[in-house]
Amino acid sequence: MSDNTMQTLFAGEWRHAQGPRYETFYPHDGSVAGSLHAATAADVDHAVQAAEQARQRPNWAGLKRHERAAILHRIADGIRARAEELAQLQRLDNGKPVGETRALVASAAGTFQFFAAACETWEDELTPARGDFLTMSVHEPLGVVGAITPWNSPIASEAQKIAPALAAGCAMVVKPAEITPRMAIELARIAQQAGLPDGILSVVPGKGSIVGDALVRHPLVRRIAFTGGTEVGRGIARLAADKLMPVSLELGGKSPTIVCADADLDHAVMGVLFGIFSSSGESCIAGSRAFVHESVYSAFREKLLAGAQALRVGDPSLATTQMGPLVSRAHRDTIERFVELGRTEGGTLLTGGMRPSGPQYERGSYYLPTVFEGLPNEARLCQEEIFGPVLALLPWRDEADLIAQCNDSVYGLASGIWTRDYKAAWRIGRALETGTVWINTYKLFSISTPFGGVKQSGVGREKGRRGILEYCAQKSFYWGLNESPLPWAR
Ligand code: NAD
Repeated sequence: MSDNTMQTLFAGEWRHAQGPRYETFYPHDGSVAGSLHAATAADVDHAVQAAEQARQRPNWAGLKRHERAAILHRIADGIRARAEELAQLQRLDNGKPVGETRALVASAAGTFQFFAAACETWEDELTPARGDFLTMSVHEPLGVVGAITPWNSPIASEAQKIAPALAAGCAMVVKPAEITPRMAIELARIAQQAGLPDGILSVVPGKGSIVGDALVRHPLVRRIAFTGGTEVGRGIARLAADKLMPVSLELGGKSPTIVCADADLDHAVMGVLFGIFSSSGESCIAGSRAFVHESVYSAFREKLLAGAQALRVGDPSLATTQMGPLVSRAHRDTIERFVELGRTEGGTLLTGGMRPSGPQYERGSYYLPTVFEGLPNEARLCQEEIFGPVLALLPWRDEADLIAQCNDSVYGLASGIWTRDYKAAWRIGRALETGTVWINTYKLFSISTPFGGVKQSGVGREKGRRGILEYCAQKSFYWGLNESPLPWAR
């Protein structure tokens, strides 16, 4: 009998982890998508110890930057060579429509390409000296770093951590979400084939409370790059504080989108629909609160509801599908509880609020695009991250009050503004407490542009040229130039 159980890469060796075997499920129909063994704390220790040894060998951290860059370029090429296969595999793991998973795979390849270029072009600093010496500051790899990622966009979140860490010369142990392990495993395979030395990259699948926790606590792990929920991130920050270990935390959001009176309403409607309902709302940057100026509120609502009801919800293997299933039935239960909450808080359900009907949806974890109105910004539905296709519509009149409401959130990840008035966009954009502001667009990304949150949406930034420095320790040198001894001891 053939064994289709996935193996994973530990310290350069492909094998099963030592924990219990478990299955992952295709959210479209509940069928088994894959099976693998969860890692144990002993597996984590093995991977970290191997990474520590590997990072001390000269064949990675000791390479010239252009030599490391060449391997990163080969990883980008390896991703592109398998792009369609990877997109289909990610679809099986989390049920995202293939149009989206193709874009995520392309972005992952672009991430490795970008950090390859950044790796060989970033410059150390010659700083202005204040005496008879030369001062310079160089950047050295931090050592072994751990990456912990969520299930919603695995290949992109993993590439955003692995590429800069490898570019910096670090060794890395990656803990993907329990239910979406494949992309990390395939990235490790591609990296190995591209010539990454053994031990520099290992993957430890399994439960966060066991595997992720062991990784965070491991004394040889010098940094954690985490993307996930705010509560888990807070726990990681506490453990990191005990170790005095740097962390980056990309956490949750409750992002506001603002529609001004002068906005191009058709563009704004398309932008708001895309912002909340693409990825079925399972996106940290989902634009889940839409503040619409009262003078255009009715017209906007009419167009928005028509658009939401026309969205193509269904089979994620079809390129025409706009909204696939939610990641699991358990997650759909959570969304349903939020919708019930919205009702009990006095919200008016304008559309959705239920599962789609029809035989094609019966076995999957589908949910319809859902829009509420009539809730104040203080309502829990407007304050808590739902991570699903649920939008709250809120009218606004006064700009100062609008900004106060947008900022009245524990989160501060992203925001959007739809207006033709560039001065208003600048004024409002500067006043919003968010890490990203989109103006007359939404949810577009560039690897060259730093990303991250403020307040409880996170700490630190990923992406951008400086992304490499997050994985480096800065070391400063003073080169004495004076021919005579230091005067003090004379
Ligand atoms: P999650 O926090 O439950 O899990 C994220 C990762 O952390 C998983 O790999 C999980 O196994 C691991 N984990 C869980 N408990 C842990 C622990 N005690 N110690 C160490 N690791 C642990 O999040 P999720 O449900 O997978 O993803 C959804 C969340 O991720 C949402 O809140 C969303 O906003 C957030 N997210 C943020 C961004 C961003 O860039 N800001 C991007 C995507 C998702």
